[in-house]
Order: sequence, then structure tokens, then C-alpha cells
Amino acid sequence: MRIVSGIQPTSQLHIGNYLGAIKQWIPLQEKNECVFFVADLHALTIPYDPEKLQQAIKETVIAYIAAGLDPEKSIIFVQSQVKEHAELGWLLNTICPIGELQRMTQYKDKSKKFKENINAGLLDYPVLQAADVLLYKGEAVPVGKDQEQHVELIRSLAKKFNQKFASPASSLGGGGGITFKEPASLILKEGGKIMSLTDPKKKMSKSDDPKSCIFLFDSPEDITKKIMSAETDSGKEVRYNITKKPGISNLLTIYSLLTGKTTQQIEKEFTGKGYGEFKKSLAEVTVQYLEPFRRKQKELATREVYLQEILRKGAGRALTIAQETMKEVKQKMGLS
Ligand code: ADP
Repeated sequence: MRIVSGIQPTSQLHIGNYLGAIKQWIPLQEKNECVFFVADLHALTIPYDPEKLQQAIKETVIAYIAAGLDPEKSIIFVQSQVKEHAELGWLLNTICPIGELQRMTQYKDKSKKFKENINAGLLDYPVLQAADVLLYKGEAVPVGKDQEQHVELIRSLAKKFNQKFASPASSLGGGGGITFKEPASLILKEGGKIMSLTDPKKKMSKSDDPKSCIFLFDSPEDITKKIMSAETDSGKEVRYNITKKPGISNLLTIYSLLTGKTTQQIEKEFTGKGYGEFKKSLAEVTVQYLEPFRRKQKELATREVYLQEILRKGAGRALTIAQETMKEVKQKMGLS
């Protein structure tokens, strides 16, 4: 299968990005053709500092590799280096009803959060995302739960394009029939939505307060501090109950995903022990789990040439596929 996914270089990556998305990318590399990009064009839709963008892109690539992506197996590159993303995005705009975009939850949330900057890109974001996936004729998109609605739109645009531009092969000199497959979203049942540490009713997000996120490369002290001060609920029993105990339930989910233990096993382990002891143990588990990430990050940060080479090769491989798709798309749309 062709797998496609990406993450915005809007800040450091957090364990929500890891547990919801990247963790499932790693095993997928073994038997599939994977395309993983740094979504820098998407990052421009919220306020950012141009002087810091290149560094953020580099850090995202480092996070990909430190978390286990293998540049020999996966195509890793920066979105803006393959101009066909923007080109296909424009073409798909012309078949996307505006109402579909206005009803997107992420658009509504982000327009509330960035009231001063409700730019057209914020609304159009899911169309560019459709281009990101369809450019490579992606068949599956491993993402967190917050992206489910966007992947639905990708499917609907693929279908629409296929219906609208299904010219017979003869009139095109080959290449007729279906252009795009309708990609499936791969969303994990556990980990698909890790919640904020400071407000467990909201998802953990890079664009929120750093205290609400555990970043992949946080120091052991910061991890401990953030977990110990994470919002918990009334009562003191460590029990999974998403409605009555959203804070503890979120921490239990993280604990379970990092240790492989079930939440029931963890509840049992902490019977009669209270929140403090549970959080202390979770902090230790997290510090330990992320230790190899920190180690690899330090090593990769000094290997500028190696990183540049990965991105150069990745963009080259991506471009070959992208150009082939664009040739077909342009023919079908009457542009060539
Ligand atoms: P953010 O919302 O933190 O800025 P992105 O929009 O760049 O993150 O998303 C990158 C990937 O991480 C996507 O697949 C997204 O679904 C996933 N993701 C983001 N936040 C979470 C979360 N809190 N829990 C699980 N997955 C998440």
C-alpha cells in the first residue's frame, strides 16, 4: 500500500503526535511504500516567525528519525520542496464546495483561537491536505482522531475527481479511468486522541501552552514537573472513567500506551495508592521511554549534512511520483 502522512513544524512534537500518528508509522514502513513529509505549507496558516521556520522544520525531521522513521525505507521530505502539492491543491480547490470547508471542526476551532488571523489558508487547509495525499495516490493515511473529518474530505474529493474527469483512455492516449483511490484513515483506538495536561477536555496541541504538552525531547525535570502538575479530578482513586475522571483517564491512557499494560492492570497496581504516587510512576515511565529519543536527537542535531541529504533524496523520490500524477491530472482536466 502507499501510505502518506505529515506533521506541521509549528513547534516541537509532543507525545500526542507520537502516540496518535508517528508510532503507527514505524511498523508501516516495513511492508508499505511510505511517504512522510514535514507540512511546512500548512504551518503558515497560523501566526509564525519566518526566521524560526527552518529550525522548526529541521527539528521535525530530527523527531521523525529519532522516533524511528528510517530514511532508507520511507520517503522523508519537506512539503514546500515539491511544488506539485500547491499545484494540485489549487486544482482540487476548483472541485471542493466551500460549505464542506466551513463545517470543519478544526477550522472552527482555529478561527476561534486565532481570531486576528482567519486567513483563507486556514479554511483551505483540508484541500491542500487532500493534495498532499492524492499527489502520491495514497491509499491509507495514519493520523490522530482530529484528522478523521479531513480524511473524509480527501475521499470525497477523490471520488468527485474520478467522476468528473473520467475521460475514456482513448481520448487521452492512455491514462483514462480512475485517477485516485479513496484513501482510508488509520486511526488508533487508543492514542488517537491524547488530551491536554492542563485541560483534559481539549486535545493536546502544539499550538497551546507548553505546560499542556509533553514534548518528545523535554528534559526529565520538565517531564516530571508537567506530569506532577497535570490537572486531575476530584476523588483520589486511580480509575479510568472518561466522563467523571477525564484527567486521570488521559494519564492512564498514556501510561498504558508507554508500558503496554492494560488500564485495568494499572488501576490494580495503584489500588489504594492515590494520584501522587501514580503520577510519580508515570513520570518515571515517560522519562525512561523518551530517553532514547533525547539521545538520538542530540546526535542528529550535529549531523546537518546527513539530514540535508535525507531531505534531498526524499524530495527527489517524492517528485518522481508527484510529476507522474500531475501529468495525468492535467491531461484529465484539459490543461495539457
Ligand atoms: P497539532 O495539532 O499538535 O499542531 P498536527 O496538526 O501537526 O498537530 O498533527 C500532526 C499529527 O498528530 C496528526 O496526525 C494529528 O492527528 C496527530 N495529533 C495531533 N494532536 C494529537 C493528539 N492530541 N492526540 C493524538 N494525535 C494527535
